[in-house]
Formats: sequence, C-alpha cells, structure tokens
Amino acid sequence: MKLIRLMTTLALAAAVLPALAEEVVVYSARNEQLIKPLFDIYTRDTGVQIKFITGGEGPLMERLKAEGSNTPADVLLTVDAGNLWQASNAGLLRPMSSATLQANVPAHLRDPGNEWFGLSVRARTLVYNTTKVKPGELSNYEALADPAWKGRLCLRTAKKVYNQSLVAMMITEHGEARAESIVKGWVANLATAPFADDTKAMEAVANRQCDVTLVNTYYYGRLMAKNPTLPLAIFWPNQIGTTREAGVHVNVSGAGVTRHAKNPAGAQKLIEWLSSDKAQNLFADNNQEYPVNPKVAPAADVAAWGSFKQNLINVKEAGSLQAQAVKLMDRAGYK
Ligand code: FE
Repeated sequence: MKLIRLMTTLALAAAVLPALAEEVVVYSARNEQLIKPLFDIYTRDTGVQIKFITGGEGPLMERLKAEGSNTPADVLLTVDAGNLWQASNAGLLRPMSSATLQANVPAHLRDPGNEWFGLSVRARTLVYNTTKVKPGELSNYEALADPAWKGRLCLRTAKKVYNQSLVAMMITEHGEARAESIVKGWVANLATAPFADDTKAMEAVANRQCDVTLVNTYYYGRLMAKNPTLPLAIFWPNQIGTTREAGVHVNVSGAGVTRHAKNPAGAQKLIEWLSSDKAQNLFADNNQEYPVNPKVAPAADVAAWGSFKQNLINVKEAGSLQAQAVKLMDRAGYK
C-alpha cells in the first residue's frame, strides 16, 4: 500500500514538473529591461526557463571564444549586423534550419548561411533642424557631401559600428572610390568634431551648431520624448528609384544559436518565438525599433514618423566590408 502511494506520488511529480529539465542560456548585448519581459512571457507560456547574462557585444563574444566547447550559452543576442557577422565569422554560431524564421524574417535581414536572423529593424536616417532646413533641401545620404552643406553637418564618431556599417553598405552600392569621395565630402562639411553618440549629434543640431545629422531613429524617439519642443524632424533619404540600393539604410538586432550550444533545439525555438507575431511588438516597441516580421505593424509612436522604403542590400555586408569601411573612413579623415 505504502509502495503504491509512493509510486503514485512520483508519477504525479513527473507529470507536473517535466519542464524543469529544459533551460536555455542567452548571452545578450541587449539590456535586461528590453529582454526580461519577453523571456518572462516565454517561460510562462512554455515552461522553459531562460537564464541570461547581459554585457557589451565585444566582451560577450570574447567570452564565447574563451569558453569554447565549455560555454553554457545557447543563444547570442546582439545589435548590428556588423557584430552578428563578426560572431559568425569567428565560428561562434551554427546554422539553423527553420522554415519559421525563413518565413518571418525578410531575406535581406538575415545571414544567407542561416547562422543569424534579424529580430528588430533599426533605421539610420537624417534628422534636421526644422528652423534651418526645409525637407525639400534634403534628398539622400550622398548629397550631404555636396559643398552646399559646408559647415552644416554633424556626425557621430567613426569608432562606433553604426556609421561603419552605413559606410560598408555604401561601398556595396557605389564601389569603394565613390564611397570614399562621399565620406570625404561629409568630413569637409562637418561643423565640428564628431560626437560620441547619436543623441549628442542631434542636440548639436537642435542647438543650431549644425543643421543635419545621421542617427538611428530610436535615439530621436528617446530625445523627443524627453523634450518634445526641440526643432528636430526625421527625413527619410534615398526614397527615389526602384533598385535594391534605393531606400533608407537599415540594420538589425538579431540572434543566433551558439556553435557549442547544449540545447540547440531549445535555442532555435526561442529565436523562432522571438520572430513571431506574439513577440515581435514587445521585442521592437520597447526600444522604439521596427518589427522585422513584415506581418507585424510598428508601434503607434514609431509609425507616426511615417513609412519609408528600406534599402534591400543584405545587411551582412555591414560585417563583410567592415574592415574596408574602417580603413576608408580613416583615409577620409573621419575620426
Ligand atoms: Fe544604439
């Protein structure tokens, strides 16, 4: 009798707690406040526990390299295709075979070798001072090299990956010589030395130190939320033409399964879920980014900035041409 009772208890425990065994470990360059709400929902819906550590993308990739096959990490989550490409190139990721991800993530926003997939889209666009510039004076990134903009341009430092990725994409579009002459034109038009971040560059535009700059839209969103009266507006460049090169330069935050994942199936399921209708708004909206999944609409505050055509060159070029872009920027005197 006692034995039967014990067996029943064990059977019940096994029925109630099967999910305890499953866990996915994430190394994330996106901060806790952006990812934890999502992971909490995933755990609630699936029973799968998610452990994560957050840090800079450089240190996280170094850690993955150092840990090798001993790494506890199943997923690497980071921003910028340049960084995702670096992780793939360093052999830190493994390919995923996923019809779900193929369907949810447009082809130009994922690795052609399927080692990483974009999960949110960030648009790098023009922001101008509305008291000094009429939108009709603006057209594209390239035109900011024109002498008409002398002393009117502000830029973020060339040391950050964002403008390195932008220049890498411009090399793909125009070839190295033309890209270099555009960057030289930008440098000749600078009102002042490059800024440490996108927000400082926009503040300089608002303070009339310069007229126009290049930023990711979510920084514009954050700054305007804090100070809605700033005389700043977004302009969507390169909207004319139907080639894949036409369109606003976009980049992604995204994820891949680590080469030495202990739970690669669980890791892939989590990434698939992050690309789903259910998760996409939370993943993108918390940082005022755009969903990568075209079936999901952006948040109302983001949609209010207007719709735009994206450049369709594969964002992996931001990585494969990054070293070339850095050298080009150095030659052009862009610090
Ligand atoms: Fe950023």
